[in-house]
Amino acid sequence: MADEEILFKIILVGESGVGKSSILVRFTDNTFTPHFAPTLGVDFNVKTIRNKETGQTVKLQLWDTAGQERFKSITQTFYRGSHGVIVVYDVTDPKSFERCKNWVEDINQNTQDGMIIILVGNKSDLASQRKVTFEQGQQMAEQLKTKFLEVSAKENSGITQVFDILVQDIEATMRNSEV
Ligand code: GDP
Repeated sequence: MADEEILFKIILVGESGVGKSSILVRFTDNTFTPHFAPTLGVDFNVKTIRNKETGQTVKLQLWDTAGQERFKSITQTFYRGSHGVIVVYDVTDPKSFERCKNWVEDINQNTQDGMIIILVGNKSDLASQRKVTFEQGQQMAEQLKTKFLEVSAKENSGITQVFDILVQDIEATMRNSEV
């Protein structure tokens, strides 16, 4: 592939409090703030990474719903132009897990076929408070036809893998649709 700059728009969705902002901040700034105050209004961060499979440099434009999910005001405009969606739940919060079905439905209704979706169970560090097992996460991902990872924004576990997988899958899908 030529060395021109490639830009992918990635968005994070999921219930309020599951750790979307924390995942983003961990990925872009490698920090974690225990009491992150959500700011209202959609905002994005940018980070450039290299596709480990192809060596291609990719600029990621990462969009967080920044609290808007509480008002159910996520619209088609938010999804427009996106290449990949990260659907996040909290492994200590079964309701946030169940709601992932609705988020994937929402994505499928508002985007074109072939959208890369990855299901992510966050807060894997909270072992004693865990209510959703790894196996349940895997089953949900199978049902929703997405990939699946458990992560901890707090402990920086699995975070870079989420974005590596997304970039590899998006690029692979694009290559396949070119032939
Ligand atoms: P958002 O509303 O989905 O953007 O969630 P936030 O990123 O604001 O996180 C909600 C709360 O969960 C905050 O108090 C975070 O510090 C906490 N949190 C986020 N990720 C983790 C994690 O991996 N482990 C633990 N223990 N807490 C987390």
